[in-house]
Amino acid sequence: MSNDVKKVLIIGAGPAGYTAGIYTARAELDPIIFAGPEPGGQLTMTTEVENFPGFSNGIQGPELMEEMRKQAERFGAKIKYETVNKVDFSQRPFRVWADSGEYQAHAVIIASGASAKLLGLESERKLIGRGVSTCATCDGYFFRGQDIAVVGGGDSAMEEAIFLTKFANKVTVIHRRDQLRASKIMQERAFKNEKIHFIWNSIVKDIKDVEAGKVTSVILENVKNGEITELPVSGLFVAIGHKPNTDIFQGQIDMDEAGYIITREGTQTSVEGVFAAGDVADHVYRQAITAAGMGCQAAIDAERYLGALE
Ligand code: NAP
Repeated sequence: MSNDVKKVLIIGAGPAGYTAGIYTARAELDPIIFAGPEPGGQLTMTTEVENFPGFSNGIQGPELMEEMRKQAERFGAKIKYETVNKVDFSQRPFRVWADSGEYQAHAVIIASGASAKLLGLESERKLIGRGVSTCATCDGYFFRGQDIAVVGGGDSAMEEAIFLTKFANKVTVIHRRDQLRASKIMQERAFKNEKIHFIWNSIVKDIKDVEAGKVTSVILENVKNGEITELPVSGLFVAIGHKPNTDIFQGQIDMDEAGYIITREGTQTSVEGVFAAGDVADHVYRQAITAAGMGCQAAIDAERYLGALE
């Protein structure tokens, strides 16, 4: 292998990317991690993480990611705070273009994650992690005995709403139409649950109270009659879907219709030598710990692949 061609490039710096970095660095594969537009990934948008094993008292999301970064760097992973804009997996070595120019590598691990879709409100941006959340599994526990709301009408919204009834006093689902998109079985479960209430034909116009730094209510607009109402809640879960960060890989590797990368035999993508780990290839579990696990798998898969090349 020539010197200016890297053994492995890792695209993305969330739990999957950093874990792949730790393992590939320890395997002396001299990895470069491209941190992308959101270094640390989705966990940097949350506050306390209580379900990541090893932290019995919980840990702040940004701190957990900082620790993973330092751990990867300790073993020699190089982190570039650059975004990958283009790749070419049709030739070998693989070619990857980041802000500072072109890189080449014999193996690539894609760990660019997914982004929860947001409503796009200024108040939402300011209150994320302070009552606005995109993950019930992560944050539901903080709303014990409280009244909260979920936005969305798909399976994710129903799943989040049902899960949240374990903790909350009342969960109001706010949906922009008068029919759910969710599967029949999820709809039935939600309708049957006495703690779940529905507000139909309504969109969230605003979230209060940015000044107080916490959620106190949501302002709703009925899209049929324009009526504005205020719903007092202490939490708002936005569950309007996720988008995998795979735009730059379109046409290069196989994806499902939602854009998630399809893997086989562990983390192998449709291009031999290109691996995928974490939320970019997983729309089912979407947890930091499962992403980290897949990052580890991808590193081991890459190491074996490179070993076979030599
Ligand atoms: P989804 O099916 O795309 O549903 C998104 C929901 O959010 C829709 O009801 C949509 O409204 C609403 N929405 C989208 N943008 C909005 C906006 N800007 N403002 C207000 N509402 C908005 O996404 P998902 O629920 O995340 O599901 C994704 C995939 O994963 C689906 O295939 C689903 O079946 C699967 N999934 C399955 C399970 C399960 O089986 N347990 C759990 C989770 C996810 P409209 O209906 O009006 O478009």
